Amino acid sequence: MSQIKKNLAKVKENIINTAINSGRNPEEAVLIAVSKTKPVEDLMEAYELGMRDFGENKVQELCDKYEQLPKDIRFHMIGHLQKNKVKYLIGKVYLIHGVDSLALAETIQKESAKRNEHTDILLEVNVANEETKFGLRPEDTLEVARQIALLPNVHIKGLMTIAPYVENPEDNRQYFVALRELSIDIKKQNIDNVCMDILSMGMTGDYQVAVSEGATYVRVGTGIFGARNYEI
Ligand SMILES: *Cc1c(COP(=O)(O)O)cnc(C)c1O
Repeated sequence: MSQIKKNLAKVKENIINTAINSGRNPEEAVLIAVSKTKPVEDLMEAYELGMRDFGENKVQELCDKYEQLPKDIRFHMIGHLQKNKVKYLIGKVYLIHGVDSLALAETIQKESAKRNEHTDILLEVNVANEETKFGLRPEDTLEVARQIALLPNVHIKGLMTIAPYVENPEDNRQYFVALRELSIDIKKQNIDNVCMDILSMGMTGDYQVAVSEGATYVRVGTGIFGARNYEI
């Protein structure tokens, strides 16, 4: 059996078991295969094994792969997005995970309207308050959501976080709980054009903890495709 096939089976099994053990419906925790830096052959292998959600963090790479791969793939933009690159993504990206400013959302609005498209986004929240990370401060998130909600072609579907790198995944449980609680608080406000159904949290090192705390998307790269080589 190929390594990707083995890895994928293991990750899927872990997600299902963790969901069941935490009283969740396993179908509500969707696996995104983070394929950044990996060749299209690897994505095709995962595709043939049933994967349809892929995560990329570079606009150019996402667009190149979009052109080469089957059109029923859902591409997730999970990286930090520069405003001047938004125009390339619209219509190709299924969900933009890392929106952390009104200005970026306004650019997504402008480019979506131009193409008569609607674009779904997640607000990225820096729940651990790490200085090195992008993302909204938890205390600013509701206000930014209210402002973005007014943009007619941009639709907030939930929240996303990138938890710190830790040795022990349990150390990140507090941040997954914090993201879930923030999403509940925002949902209670019943803002028009703001939906809080999605929680994108958990990576190779901590996706099981994230699933047990309510993740609806986990983003797993290394755990499926193996280590990344940034040299090539
Ligand atoms: C690269 C990346 C991942 C996947 O990381 P792994 O540790 O390889 O699973 C998940 N989320 C984001 C935002 C990433 O940039």
